[in-house]
Amino acid sequence: MRTFLEELASEVLTHYPDQLDGLTLVFPNRRAGLFFQQYLAGQLNQPVWSPQVLTLEEFIGSLSPLKKADGLLLVFELFEIYKSLAPTDESFDKFFFWGEMLLQDFDAVDQHLVDARLLFTNIVQLNALDGGLDFLSEEQITVVQEFWQHFGTANSRQKQEFIAIWEILPQVYARYRQRLQELGIGYQGLQFRQVAEACRTLQLEHPYRHVVFAGFNALTPAEESVLSHFIKNEGARMYWDTDAYYLQDLWQEAGHFLRRHARSKILGPTFPPSPPAHLKGSNKYIEFIGVPLEVGQAKAMGEKLLHCLQEQQGLKLERTAIVLPDEHMLFPVLHSIPEQYTDSRGSVHPIDTVNVTMGYPLRSTPLFSLIELMVELQGSARGAGAKAQFHFRTVLALLRHPYIYYVQTELARENIHAIEAKNRVYLSASELKGESPLYTTLFRRIEGIQPLFDYLLQVLELINESINEENYEQPTLEQEYIYQFFTHLKRLRELVQQQRLQLQMPVFLKLLRQIVQEQRLPFTGEPLSGLQIMGVLETRLLDFENLFILSMNEGTFPPAPSHGSFIPYNLRRGWGLPTFDQQDALYAYYFYRMLQRAKNVHIFYNTSSAYGLNGERSRLLYQLLYESGLPVRQQVLTHPLQLARALPLEIPKSQGVWEVLQQHLSLQGDPPARRFTPSALNTYLDCRLRFYFRYVAGIQEPDEVQEEVDPAVFGNLVHRAMELLYLEHIRDSKGGVPVLEPEDLRQLHRGLPAVVDRAFAEHYGVKEVSFEGRNHIVRSIVEKLGSAILRCDEEYAPFEIIALESESHFSRGERAENRYRMEVPIRIGGQAYRVGLKGIIDRIDRKEGKVRILDYKTGQDEKRFESLASLFERDNLRRNKAAMQTLLYSLLYLSAHPQEEARVIPGLYNSRELFSPGFDVRLEIKGERGYQPVQDVRDYADDYLAQLRSLLEELFDPAIPFTQTENLRKCEYCAYRGMCHR
Ligand code: SF4
Repeated sequence: MRTFLEELASEVLTHYPDQLDGLTLVFPNRRAGLFFQQYLAGQLNQPVWSPQVLTLEEFIGSLSPLKKADGLLLVFELFEIYKSLAPTDESFDKFFFWGEMLLQDFDAVDQHLVDARLLFTNIVQLNALDGGLDFLSEEQITVVQEFWQHFGTANSRQKQEFIAIWEILPQVYARYRQRLQELGIGYQGLQFRQVAEACRTLQLEHPYRHVVFAGFNALTPAEESVLSHFIKNEGARMYWDTDAYYLQDLWQEAGHFLRRHARSKILGPTFPPSPPAHLKGSNKYIEFIGVPLEVGQAKAMGEKLLHCLQEQQGLKLERTAIVLPDEHMLFPVLHSIPEQYTDSRGSVHPIDTVNVTMGYPLRSTPLFSLIELMVELQGSARGAGAKAQFHFRTVLALLRHPYIYYVQTELARENIHAIEAKNRVYLSASELKGESPLYTTLFRRIEGIQPLFDYLLQVLELINESINEENYEQPTLEQEYIYQFFTHLKRLRELVQQQRLQLQMPVFLKLLRQIVQEQRLPFTGEPLSGLQIMGVLETRLLDFENLFILSMNEGTFPPAPSHGSFIPYNLRRGWGLPTFDQQDALYAYYFYRMLQRAKNVHIFYNTSSAYGLNGERSRLLYQLLYESGLPVRQQVLTHPLQLARALPLEIPKSQGVWEVLQQHLSLQGDPPARRFTPSALNTYLDCRLRFYFRYVAGIQEPDEVQEEVDPAVFGNLVHRAMELLYLEHIRDSKGGVPVLEPEDLRQLHRGLPAVVDRAFAEHYGVKEVSFEGRNHIVRSIVEKLGSAILRCDEEYAPFEIIALESESHFSRGERAENRYRMEVPIRIGGQAYRVGLKGIIDRIDRKEGKVRILDYKTGQDEKRFESLASLFERDNLRRNKAAMQTLLYSLLYLSAHPQEEARVIPGLYNSRELFSPGFDVRLEIKGERGYQPVQDVRDYADDYLAQLRSLLEELFDPAIPFTQTENLRKCEYCAYRGMCHR
């Protein structure tokens, strides 16, 4: 296959054999120039000065007195002009989006040599004139009038807003142009228009001797004027990269622009009298491969490439290109390229040269997410200077971000753990552990726009340094991202300084986000060897024998029309400005041109419409299939889908498991090393496997910072508030018997709000909690429950408090969990053992021969239960866990105080019944005469212990594995759901 550029090199050598040093070749893109020089060098047999190679943008730019300015500066200048003409308090960040759009419209207006004054005013005049429109063609008048008639019926408020802006646009356009001329800068359209006007008036001065234009398709009127001028007046040559298939067939949209140029008096004669017919004139292998999802396409492409390299003798990587219409496919594709292949003779070849030529969106890089988080950190911070505090969510996200996490992994882990374990919702920088310059720089409050620039730049520098320390030989991709961002940031700082732009921090943060979002990372692989990966635009003028084109779906190739224009569609059509149908024609040309000289074409498209993807294949594929007559093979790859059935999970009591279990047994008279709590036994009754995960394997439920109060936290807050309240009273009794009289309880009632606040502050690890939203409601419910408990206690008073959750028998100050324990005798395999149990009791009080064992319950718990057996029935959905637990606490108490003479009464302060009149804390068991209060736990101890023994014997039975519960409702809120696939 001879490529177009090889043919062009021969042509150039034929026409300019001795004038190469004075020759300038102008191409649509830079990459074509690089390939051309390589082909030219290949055809030369002596050293010569190489001709100059330029892109059209560089060529026309060099003829313009205006310097092309960057987009940001242009939008800044446009904003200034707009503000001076339209009284608006619109902030720059709001203007930025549509300012860019307006700039593109101005660019299109100039590229298409449209009279901006008429375009932007005629809509209003048309209404008044309704005729006399000599300056427009018939077709233009019709289209513009159609627009106006339709517009007349549009919503009046929108209409007025539109007209208000439209009316000032001629002035904005004129003043803006004037301002840019004064500054000596311009956008591309302005440069092109000025050069086109200089060509028209023959006033253009230029340094070029011989000029060759090659490979153009859709020239704008400004470009056409310049090229025509050089062809007509300067002897320039023009070469078209075209094919008879779409040039001569009027129905083929790919030839739309070329046919138009062929009708031009000047450009027409530059077309070859009989265009080449490569597309249908050679044997091509074309296949369409439908694959679900994006990664699927990348994988299928990698396998196909490997297959071709192994099976097709003579296939050269240099003549192979992978074309990516969707730039997000770059990394999946890079990761799917095989590292090596074995050819049909058994030789192994590495694939170590891959050149990427395309833009990659900065917003798809991890650096963009880091910048977003830094911006968010500043946006969500409260307080100033050293007192500044940051929201845990952003801090955790930053600590887990790969750029931060991998710089000091251990430190990041420690800090994440500390924040989660302490439930810190807002935290200051000083609370983060470790001496780290990165943390010190990153976690600080920034006020003011200039300090923010320094802040972002400093953090990037530190990350860059840490990457450098890894001693990579070449800059890494991460450094490439950092470099790009660094450049944009510095440029933005310069502009903000130059323009003395006054921006508030939130506005600036939004603006920064918008600007970074639009940036692209330009990958430009210079070496022309190896496998090429490129975007669609980069393929112009290049021919490859083997093509792998991905993402051939509607909306990607051709791309979805962009609606970013202030000029309505009909007016664009009327004035000959580009519309989306022209964009389709443009992409059709790119597609057929790419194919015309290729031999093997493998086209991949996505078949799935999941995840917002368009599963419809491109219209260009249908055209190729039904219009071209070329043989096309088609296949659709599918992954057979099967709903994976989660296999039942059970853990046998192996040696390892047994070793853990037997730590709970008293062996040879020694006390057990570990003990089960009532809630562990409740867990075992709920689900044997959950018990195994939690108490045998020791898999902890993950710590998670709770910003708002969940049910478990709600219970803890009530417990803690009541405990703090009674502790204060007990401490006031200075070691004496802490008796509570009704007056004491009234006194305690007054202190309730303060202890509730303290319980919240302890939970969030702060000095003071500001109650907002849901927490405000939760706080008032906690206070209400506390109030109800105090009212019951006031009625019950006087009584003596014996123990509270964290302290028991205050005069001795021993820890409660050590005090309440017992051993239950069981038999395992005919041998006698004793199982260790322990428990922490919320509160114990005493009054007139009664000891109450009390538990605070804030869920749905009830005091009533059917029978002692019902407390151990694992399939009983109404099993009363609270009663099972409180009865066991009572037995634990008795075991610790065998001499106790008072009645031991288990009771619940359960929120479900607490507000009922005549509330009684005692548990109630069903008897012959209905439910009766439990007067003394001793009355039920034997029956209870018998049930408990049989439960423990089952738990230690080596033949009974830890199995999953049958009741899926129990899995709904289980922390181990993921492990169980439930
Ligand atoms: S998910 Fe269900 S079966 Fe698995 S441990 Fe939890 S409760 Fe048991």
